[in-house]
Amino acid sequence: MFTERAARPGRPPHTPLRPTWCCRTDGQPWPCGKARLLLRAEYEDDLTGLSVYLAGLMYEAMRDLYHLNPHDAPAPPVLYSRFLAWNRTRHHPPPTCRSCSRGS
Ligand SMILES: [Zn+2]
Repeated sequence: MFTERAARPGRPPHTPLRPTWCCRTDGQPWPCGKARLLLRAEYEDDLTGLSVYLAGLMYEAMRDLYHLNPHDAPAPPVLYSRFLAWNRTRHHPPPTCRSCSRGS
């Protein structure tokens, strides 16, 4: 689980402080840069699983942040970028098309 790897003795882990969703260690909007690195390392072989995990957390963050401040919470696209967009893989191989590779 993410919290085990993110925790270090004597320091709070780079985990979200609810309901503000700031990092417990550095106060940055969670997931902070360090949290992203730790998450990427932990889910190295399962980036889809990481996306599912982060989507669930984004939902919880939206619920908390809109409840906390209904008129000034981050807009959904901002939260999407913060929670999910950074985890997209950069290399998407194009889908293969049999009819395109056939006749040259
Ligand atoms: Zn942090």
